[in-house]
Amino acid sequence: MNDNIHGYYLEAGQIAAKVRNDALPKIKEGISLLDIAQFVEGTIKDMGAEPAFPCNISINEIASHYTPQDHQACFRKGDVVKLDIGAHIEGYIADTAATIEVGTQNHNLLIHTCEDALEKAIRYTKDGVETNQIGKVIEDTIKERGFNPIKDLTGHNLEQYQLHAGITIPNYKSFFSHTIKKDMVFAIEPFATYGRGNIKTGKPFIFAIINRCKGIIADDLKGRFGSLPFAPRWAPGTDLDELKGAREYYELIEKDGEIVAQSEHTVIVNEEGCEVITRLGK
Ligand code: MN
Ligand code: MN
Repeated sequence: MNDNIHGYYLEAGQIAAKVRNDALPKIKEGISLLDIAQFVEGTIKDMGAEPAFPCNISINEIASHYTPQDHQACFRKGDVVKLDIGAHIEGYIADTAATIEVGTQNHNLLIHTCEDALEKAIRYTKDGVETNQIGKVIEDTIKERGFNPIKDLTGHNLEQYQLHAGITIPNYKSFFSHTIKKDMVFAIEPFATYGRGNIKTGKPFIFAIINRCKGIIADDLKGRFGSLPFAPRWAPGTDLDELKGAREYYELIEKDGEIVAQSEHTVIVNEEGCEVITRLGK
């Protein structure tokens, strides 16, 4: 990886880490989800990066892909909140997430287990390692404490302007595997739940323009967001009903309706291990 690209990743990573850490303590009972999303997205821009996707704020059994549309929804006492944010510079993306509980401490073990699974997976990750062995580390850590990993959701490699660039890191010892190599960039993101760990989909709140999208609206959105995900609130005045063929990111919900925790860091693989770019203070 050349020094310029490495520099972009480090900067995007530090911005994402700072914004994540600053946003988490603002999540309190009665605060609107949109206030937090706007803080995250606005601060990423103020710090000189761009949001790589709309701030995801997914609560309780919703594992991922919810982003607020307006100020209606507020945090409630006892909510288990996954804050998942992405920042990019010149398309080099840092993707990170953390889980907190609003005003109660009923799910500390679930949340800490997920964090431990991520830490162990990071320590295991280096040039030459198999993705399904990283998955095994995650699965074993989560199952040891009596929870289940969400098998339907995975980590993923990142490339310029590509959030999911084709290689996945499973959250269990899957049959399919891939050998990871030096300089590959991965988001590792275990999810842990009290449920069986399967996913059903909800509604789409996040969209992306892909090649099959044609027309003036698609061209306009493509010019603004490229092929990265966006929320309708990022394009006020645009009639998205007129947009055909966009990729829809459906809400991802634990099938048993059980609470889910998520932890995520972005890493750059090297020969000795990996460099965690979304850990603050590098
Ligand atoms: Mn993420
Ligand atoms: Mn991710």
